[in-house]
Amino acid sequence: MDQIKIENLEIYAYHGVFAEEKEKGQLFYINATLDTDLRRAGQTDDLSASTHYGEVALLLQKKMTEQSYDLIEKAAEVCAEAVLLQFPLVHGITLELRKPDAPIPLPFESVSVVIHRGWKKAYIALGSNMGDSRGHLDGAVEAMKADKHIRVRKVSDYIVTKPYGGVEQEDFLNGAVAVETLYSPEELLDKLHEIEASHDRQRLVHWGPRTLDLDILLYEDLVMDTSDLTIPHRDMHNRDFVLKPMVQIAPYVKHPLSGRTMEQMLEQNKME
Ligand code: ATP
Ligand code: CA
Ligand code: CA
Repeated sequence: MDQIKIENLEIYAYHGVFAEEKEKGQLFYINATLDTDLRRAGQTDDLSASTHYGEVALLLQKKMTEQSYDLIEKAAEVCAEAVLLQFPLVHGITLELRKPDAPIPLPFESVSVVIHRGWKKAYIALGSNMGDSRGHLDGAVEAMKADKHIRVRKVSDYIVTKPYGGVEQEDFLNGAVAVETLYSPEELLDKLHEIEASHDRQRLVHWGPRTLDLDILLYEDLVMDTSDLTIPHRDMHNRDFVLKPMVQIAPYVKHPLSGRTMEQMLEQNKME
């Protein structure tokens, strides 16, 4: 990935745990590396095909000075997020925030934090078999679109499917959504639970009827397994109602454990 770099941007600001730091302020320095594709700007010589580093610098200054924080961790987080939200061509940012006059009672050159943040690709499964199922799935997509930390990239068609897991109940409507998100996997799950709750989702019978079920299928090529969250979704490779919509929006995306594409997994299930 190409990069734009801003080095040692000097900003006078008021971050720190001590009262004196908040009153008198001090100099901070930012190094920012923006991950972005510069090919089109390189070909066209057109600024609108790139990201204006002057505007980025001014935004960093604004974010560093509009509020004062105890921690440079917080100031760095706020700066990185602002750049990712305001400059659509920037996929990721590495931001170093340096504080050369930090209150340390020993000789030192400088302290800094370095963070990397970016838009992560994720796939989410949608399901409903209670009430206005189409309305619930559409509502979920709208709720994701309304969240500035989520960009909905693709939405599959919805398909009618037979219930899974042996509980006698209505047919389901299922779909899948491709998103880019600034949320961590845990934050994304919290957000999906919030959307489910706003659609009166209740957890009564496991695999039983529900107004809205939102599962994280994939998050980049992350593999994780905690008590609250398993990624890739534990059972996605066995479920045609997940794989069919995924084949429509992401046929060549691979399952990070098996290395098989969505298309290959669906074909495999047909043969079994
Ligand atoms: P299944 O996960 O087999 O599709 P379900 O969707 O009916 O079953 P829920 O009752 O909706 O199960 O969720 C139970 C818990 O599963 C959630 O509270 C969540 O903590 C956990 N979970 C683990 N991995 C995931 C994931 N990838 N996406 C969503 N929830 C997950
Ligand atoms: Ca589910
Ligand atoms: Ca679920």
